[in-house]
Amino acid sequence: MIQELQLRILPEEAANEQSLKQVVARETGTSVPHILAVRVLKRSIDARQRTIYVNVKLRVFIDEQPDEPEYQSVEYKDVSAGKTVIVVGAGPGGLFAALRLIELGLRPVVIERGKNVRERKKDIALISREHKVNSESNYSFGEGGAGAYSDGKLYTRSKKRGSVDKILNIFCQFGASTSILADAHPHIGTDKLPRVIENIREQIIRCGGEVHFETRMDALIIHGEEVAGVETNTGKSFYGPVILATGHSARDVYRYLHDRQIPIEAKGIAVGVRLEHPQMLIDQIQYHRKEGRGEYLPAAEYSFVTQVNGRGVYSFCMCPGGFVVPAASGPKQVVVNGMSPSNRGSRWANSGMVVEIRPEDFPSDSPLGLMEFQEHLEELSWLNGGMKQTAPAQRMADFINKKNSFDLPESSYTPGLLASPLHFWMPEFVTGRLREGFRYFGKVSKGFLTNEALMIGVETRTSSPVRILRDKESFQHVTLKGLFPCGEGAGYAGGIVSAAIDGERCAEGAGHYLDNQ
Ligand SMILES: Cc1cc2nc3c(=O)[nH]c(=O)nc-3n(C[C@H](O)[C@H](O)[C@H](O)COP(=O)(O)OP(=O)(O)OC[C@H]3O[C@@H](n4cnc5c(N)ncnc54)[C@H](O)[C@@H]3O)c2cc1C
Repeated sequence: MIQELQLRILPEEAANEQSLKQVVARETGTSVPHILAVRVLKRSIDARQRTIYVNVKLRVFIDEQPDEPEYQSVEYKDVSAGKTVIVVGAGPGGLFAALRLIELGLRPVVIERGKNVRERKKDIALISREHKVNSESNYSFGEGGAGAYSDGKLYTRSKKRGSVDKILNIFCQFGASTSILADAHPHIGTDKLPRVIENIREQIIRCGGEVHFETRMDALIIHGEEVAGVETNTGKSFYGPVILATGHSARDVYRYLHDRQIPIEAKGIAVGVRLEHPQMLIDQIQYHRKEGRGEYLPAAEYSFVTQVNGRGVYSFCMCPGGFVVPAASGPKQVVVNGMSPSNRGSRWANSGMVVEIRPEDFPSDSPLGLMEFQEHLEELSWLNGGMKQTAPAQRMADFINKKNSFDLPESSYTPGLLASPLHFWMPEFVTGRLREGFRYFGKVSKGFLTNEALMIGVETRTSSPVRILRDKESFQHVTLKGLFPCGEGAGYAGGIVSAAIDGERCAEGAGHYLDNQ
């Protein structure tokens, strides 16, 4: 017999299959040996009250073994003889575009400026160790894109449940834990993501597709009003319609498009700092217990949002049990971001704390105005951080009180920190709102506003400062046929899952385009 149960249970009861079987036995009056398997379909934590509960939806197999797969897989066939589509960029947008192309019988040729995901790891280590930023291989560039060395959080605001579920199932097919199908806030972890990404690449190649690393698109090949392929820095050109999934840090791509008068527009962004607290403190606040999260609860998360003087101030990309990382992709930049391993086991909790910026806040004749503003802030951060990858930092309460921090608490940021008056050199437009925002967050969450927390500058790469204009129906560029601006860099996604969904959409657009040729 198969039964589904919706239960509200204690964290220790939800800890593993054995403890869940005990609960099921109690709830159904069945003895444990008859309960052959328990599958968790949905899981979320309710920490609003003093007693913390886990809400679970279970599928229980009594006197029968499960014969259904734990996830739905896609069959990828050989497409060696299919028409070619060029995918520029091997981030989640590009990789999921390539997989969808294969499903449609088309042959993806992926070109990626950075290195494969393992080689890339060495360059990332050099940023912390030697303060060397390789402008082609870093936290933004390389196989897996900006999502590879991240938290691998897979929640999204996308309302398209079907599309989201498909992406999560594909992640499982390539090696992610099936817990991502059940958790309200699924995440993979930076330690597990590289293997998943390699498995996707191996699948693309097995099906007859190609993946070229250290191959940067330098120009589009344009015939009349149609894109026919790309030229690369290796001297090799690739021909076919182009899915342009280059991410929000490929500023050279934006400059290239603008110089060629290919329509793009400025898009709102959000900028601010990474805020780092001891994880213990966040656990104590969120779980209302002095002893912290204990044995059975995960590292606690938070999410804050408010409005200050007409602009949003909010926490972004929170990484419980994580690390603050140096995410610069070029010289004279200090940019920070966050990542965490699958066990979220570090002693720190971090999140971006950012202020919304709209194009009208920094009027410019150029669609690159907000991108230049990002660049300016990143250079200021580099100057104030000691002109290497050490980052400028200030204690949270000192920032509120416009005081210098004379010492800094221990931090997860490995290149090192330099005490710096962020309140002084960051634009008042941002600092004034952050100050008000922090006061409010400190009121709704007692203990959050504290000098134990550290602000690290600057967080600027929250989303794309540019939109590459495309048609809503065909996903083609508004003036160039055969060009499919895709993912976060094109301004149509924010985060791993939404970039992957957009990759699938653009692959379908390219499929229709080829069908009608
Ligand atoms: C440290 C960090 C942590 C993050 N954590 C999360 C998280 O937990 N959850 C989440 O949802 N999102 C997270 N994000 C954001 C997420 O990574 C991005 O939203 C997502 O990767 C965007 O996907 P994309 O494919 O559109 O672009 P990208 O991932 O940016 O990929 C673009 C790719 O294009 C390549 N490229 C650029 N220019 C060229 C060119 N000219 N020629 C060839 N290749 C080129 C780049 O090298 C890159 O690999 C994080 C980002 C960072 C940096």
